[in-house]
Amino acid sequence: MKHVGLKLSAIAISCSIALSAQASSTLFANVDVFNGTENKLYQDHHVLIVDNKIAKVSAKNIDAADAVVIDGQGLTLMPGLIEGHGHLQMNGSSLPDIENNRNWEELAARSAARAESALMSGFTTWRDMGGMGAGLKKTIDNGELRGPRIYPSGAFIGPTGSHADFRNFTTPNETFNGPQSAGARLGMSCTADDEGAIKACARQNYMQGATQLKLMSSGGVASSFDPWQLNAYSLEEIKAAVEVADAYGSYVASHAYSKVSLLRNLEAGTKTLEHAFMFDAEVNKQMKQHDAYMTTNMTAFSPYLGQIEAINSNPASARKAKTAQAAFKNYIPNVKKLKPKLGFHVDCVGGVAACEQQADHSIYLSGEFFGNFYTLISMTSVNGEIVKLSGETLDPYIDGKLGVIEEGAYADLLLVKGNPLEDLSVIGANKKWFDAPKRNGIEAMKLIMKDGKIYKNTL
Ligand SMILES: [Zn+2]
Repeated sequence: MKHVGLKLSAIAISCSIALSAQASSTLFANVDVFNGTENKLYQDHHVLIVDNKIAKVSAKNIDAADAVVIDGQGLTLMPGLIEGHGHLQMNGSSLPDIENNRNWEELAARSAARAESALMSGFTTWRDMGGMGAGLKKTIDNGELRGPRIYPSGAFIGPTGSHADFRNFTTPNETFNGPQSAGARLGMSCTADDEGAIKACARQNYMQGATQLKLMSSGGVASSFDPWQLNAYSLEEIKAAVEVADAYGSYVASHAYSKVSLLRNLEAGTKTLEHAFMFDAEVNKQMKQHDAYMTTNMTAFSPYLGQIEAINSNPASARKAKTAQAAFKNYIPNVKKLKPKLGFHVDCVGGVAACEQQADHSIYLSGEFFGNFYTLISMTSVNGEIVKLSGETLDPYIDGKLGVIEEGAYADLLLVKGNPLEDLSVIGANKKWFDAPKRNGIEAMKLIMKDGKIYKNTL
């Protein structure tokens, strides 16, 4: 546990308590601490929360007369979980379902339900990787709805026929001869076929409150028109998006499967590679050189992948899933060997129950492939670093770190029964996917705190 600066911060805390009659504090006493970065528990520690920050972490008793004391004997205090790549607004059963059958009010109502389910599953921060602006985020931050902190990307940016093209086969091309797709009209996607159009989409997203950009620079599986092997954007086109992101002090996250696309993105200045299934030693070297990260959906390697409705309801996607799984067979051995900076990523398209099942199964798979510690840091400190790439100007939560337990970090915390380093089921991991029973929260997760406020307490 870091004790550097303890004296100073203790003085600062007593000043702020003296100055503010409203200062509220909570003391977690006698807890074992997983701090989000180290492969160990700090036994029998004490953690003081003042307002919305972690004020003190100590092996000794903390004297805090005004604090609400929570005796956590035998429980583990850990950072709140961070989803590195989710889509709260993508809550139809498939892309054609969203395009054809969901209007704005249903999508918005469903995304509010998804946000509450995420928070009650322990996700206190959510990097939304495309499909919505800042509306839901503002409503949650105002305290009108319950949900995680959100870093929205705004509309997906991709070329005609790409992974971000929601149209039906018969919908006219919006640039040349017709109206936009429903997804585009609702601000979920932005079709951009040259550098100027990419910059316009990027600026529109930032104007709407995006904290980073999401590009569809290669093909994907759960979409109709693009082979997954497609290298959808050129180097110059990706650079156009990076140029706008740089101007805002922010960054580009890019959906990329193929090695060509991964290397092209790194050369252009993309900071997070999304999916990155063709990751290998060469990509790893370039990632290090560019201080870049990647996030991957582990369910891509599940034997049950074909049962996802977004895939099995679309024959083109079902066919693509088979060849993609075969082509990505070196991903897991490469990650095991090279240990890149990998953020956790569920990437669920669907409703509340389906996305809870998918998140739980994703945690299980990551633990099986890479071990519990690597999984836990991917869900806490690594994703905490990733969200902060949005930069000083746009980061809505600039006053503290996320995904760690240390003095000065935001008080986003979970109190769980058991040791997550030994057993990921305490945060929901489940070997079953589609046949997992519907759940109501996670039983071993006894307390959920976000921004110093308690949202669940079953102690
Ligand atoms: Zn995604």
